[in-house]
Amino acid sequence: MQPPRSISDLDRQYLWHPFTHQALWTAAEPLVIAAAEGVYLIDEQGRRYIDGIASMWCNVHGHRVPEIDAAITRQLGRVAHTTLLGLASEPAALLAEKLISVAPPGLAKVFYSDSGATATEIAFKMAAQYWHNRGRPEKCEFVGLTEAYHGDTVGAMSVGMTSAFHKPYMPLLFKVHYSPAPEWTGDDAAAADACAAALRAMDAILRAHAARIAAVCIEPHVMGAAGIRVQPPGFVWGVRDLATRHDVMLICDEVATGFGRTGRMFACEIEGITPDLLCLGKGITGGYLPLAATLAKQSVYDAFLGAPWEGKTFFHGHTYTGNPLACAAAAASLELFASSDLLARVQATARSLAEMLRPLKGLAHVGDVRQAGLMVGIDLVADRASLSRFDPRLRVGAAVCDRLRRHGVILRPLGDTIVLMPPLVITVDQLATIVNALRHEITLIDQAAAVRHVGDEQVAGDF
Ligand code: PLP
Repeated sequence: MQPPRSISDLDRQYLWHPFTHQALWTAAEPLVIAAAEGVYLIDEQGRRYIDGIASMWCNVHGHRVPEIDAAITRQLGRVAHTTLLGLASEPAALLAEKLISVAPPGLAKVFYSDSGATATEIAFKMAAQYWHNRGRPEKCEFVGLTEAYHGDTVGAMSVGMTSAFHKPYMPLLFKVHYSPAPEWTGDDAAAADACAAALRAMDAILRAHAARIAAVCIEPHVMGAAGIRVQPPGFVWGVRDLATRHDVMLICDEVATGFGRTGRMFACEIEGITPDLLCLGKGITGGYLPLAATLAKQSVYDAFLGAPWEGKTFFHGHTYTGNPLACAAAAASLELFASSDLLARVQATARSLAEMLRPLKGLAHVGDVRQAGLMVGIDLVADRASLSRFDPRLRVGAAVCDRLRRHGVILRPLGDTIVLMPPLVITVDQLATIVNALRHEITLIDQAAAVRHVGDEQVAGDF
């Protein structure tokens, strides 16, 4: 009989991981997560790690939350899955009501799907068909921000254009007008100019092309995968205003920012705007199950009404659209928001975190630290004065994150930007553990970089 093989052996033999250099992955011993509790992930040996990226930016109330566990178990006792194509279900309807009650005013309808990319893909299709149904089929182009990220499906990649990820697929992508994302370093004195410059650029695109444009799409307030790039005050309001004036729709992608991440339920609230379509995912179920939603204004929905033979129907759907287990988890998560002061706590925790991060800005290899609520990006640079970057082959960001595991901390970088995006319930003490570990490891880069020469073959970056 064959001896039982370890999970890491099975993983390396059979699995292909997302966003992962498989050659490096299979050469190393993977960390196998066996359980979780609160903000901690627990490995096979029982070691505990703070989940500093909220299991890919989605965990809200921690892991194994009794109320969410119970809601899923209750639903499991009734039915695990039933389709929304031709049938209704209680969890999907109850959750839709709850979502509309917390969403920016004016959003009226909920279209479910199962990932952030499908939520945005659906918004692009809805926007194009909205104009088609209104007799303006030529309005089918989009405006996106440079280096935005909306997911990995073809439409999401087209509007997102994250050059680091999507280069091989460029020939497949459709034409999009890219407006420069605001260039702002967080300096209050420069905010008005940065905002005005970005809005001027978008206005120029809309002046020239609005007759063919269906919608503008932005990640409001902060662009996540672009490296936690915070927008200057007034930008989101300005984009809403431009979209209205040029008669194009506004799509807000709150897949990353939604559900309390910025200290408000939705980032759109910060400048008091309502988009025509709002994309939600990640934290919608508290980080438990795959669910996403695209919320629409009543006027958008109304453009899809008519007799069946008029062809106005939105022909889009997925097998697991509105899955009852996921909807039950999402409803339980929203009930936890309603019955607690979590949003106020996020704002207080974010203020404490800002204090803790301040000293990092003085480190020799830190170029910039950006924060919006509990979203943080820390740029590691070779030289602070010139902001010159490390040789990418060093993979310094990845190496720092690997070493953080010895401190019981899990983070994942975007290139050489370290991202911190913990569950919203994280405590100030737990954040201090993360920030202290980070400071220690970033300080070590210094000594190591001085003695290490990077050869072509030394790409693993264990400085
Ligand atoms: N939109 C934004 C703003 C995101 O940050 C992400 C993922 O990081 C997505 C869309 C895609 O979500 P998913 O990975 O669930 O497809």
